[in-house]
Amino acid sequence: MHPQVERTLEEVRRRNPGEPEFQQAVVEVLSSISLAVERDPSLADHSLLERLVEPERQILFRVPWVDDSGTVQVNRGYRVEFNSALGPYKGGLRFHQSVNRNIIKFLGFEQIFKNALTGQSIGGGKGGSDFDPHGKSDWEVMNFCQAFMTELARHIGDKTDVPAGDVGVGEREIGFLFGQYRRLKNRWETGVITGKGLDWGGSQARREATGYGVVFFARDMLRNRGDDLEGRVVTVSGSGNVAIYAIEKALQFGAKPVTFSDSSGWVYDPEGVDIELLKEIKEKRRGRASDYVAERPSAKFHAEGRPWSVPCDIALPCATQNELNEEDAKQLARNGCVIVAEGANMPSTPEAIHIFADAGILFAPGKAANAGGVAVSSLEMEQNAARARWTFGEVEGQLAVIMSNIHRSCLETAEEYGKPGDYVVGANIRAFLRVSDAMHAQGVF
Ligand code: GLU
Repeated sequence: MHPQVERTLEEVRRRNPGEPEFQQAVVEVLSSISLAVERDPSLADHSLLERLVEPERQILFRVPWVDDSGTVQVNRGYRVEFNSALGPYKGGLRFHQSVNRNIIKFLGFEQIFKNALTGQSIGGGKGGSDFDPHGKSDWEVMNFCQAFMTELARHIGDKTDVPAGDVGVGEREIGFLFGQYRRLKNRWETGVITGKGLDWGGSQARREATGYGVVFFARDMLRNRGDDLEGRVVTVSGSGNVAIYAIEKALQFGAKPVTFSDSSGWVYDPEGVDIELLKEIKEKRRGRASDYVAERPSAKFHAEGRPWSVPCDIALPCATQNELNEEDAKQLARNGCVIVAEGANMPSTPEAIHIFADAGILFAPGKAANAGGVAVSSLEMEQNAARARWTFGEVEGQLAVIMSNIHRSCLETAEEYGKPGDYVVGANIRAFLRVSDAMHAQGVF
């Protein structure tokens, strides 16, 4: 590794103790960047790397709210505004009990590079809370969202920082958050948050964008080796927004998605997932993965293990970070899997990624493969700024083009840096060059 990169990594470890996921994300990105800095050491001038790994601003706040029994609950709110060299901070809000500063920093760091890859004018940020909406009533979720936005509102704006959804934050939460922002500011500022409902400033195809984008990306990977999705068996983890629409698009392309999961376990449906049933259970009833098998005789529910034991051609981890480990990767390789494309953020452990490389499995990191969600968020911002409403077809068409561009630029960059077919190196270097050019141009900040 280039000595300057090595020194930056040591500093990151020293200054961010007890933040393993943040360190993991930085190590992965800087290992690739090292190749670029070796070729052109001026990229690291003026402590650029040291600035890159330090958020521009970190906001940590108390979120007191009243539950249905009249008890005051206290959660923690976070917003990490990581890098605004390319545009306003942009990235989702995650509501989950596992959220802490480490998780939000890792997600915010990844977001810088993901957003750069889209080619759009968006910086990187992320936020959230250790509040878990599961099992809460709609009133409790509303009370929480209003309390959360009461503080967040002073930090965000359509030209400053534009949140969206992530794990635990869907259209319901975005509605409550936007409503509170509007109430506080007395402004119809739709561009302040994305993932809105269609009648109040949302974009067609935003809900579908991340999952569809992952499958567009996987299709490009296959096509690049003269192959196609038709008839391919696909394993998917998760059953949120990303997983559901990855399954839907895989079905539209003639592939056979056979698994999904949630925190209670996973489902294997060898006949292919019934997407309408899955949507009904997850989106309408807010039910569990196990509810699916009660209505679908071909399917089996497993409380233990993970979908990666099922033989497949393509694996799409769409649940959460570090959900696919070395053992899972070995099993995928043994079963003949040819492609892994990440729908979640950093779902594969570093050990798993090494196994993919050794086994010749093509691997697309989340910052490339799942960039479709934030890309359509940026299209939502464009529509809001122009007071325009585009059709589903128009947005989906633009999404497909953006995903193809990301795919191509990853491959071109990997080739240029002597790592043909390495999507990790391609994505990290391509994104870094865009961000570092902008940072150098704008002076020390
Ligand atoms: N949370 C999503 C992501 O990880 C979307 C962010 C956005 O739309 O701003 O990219």
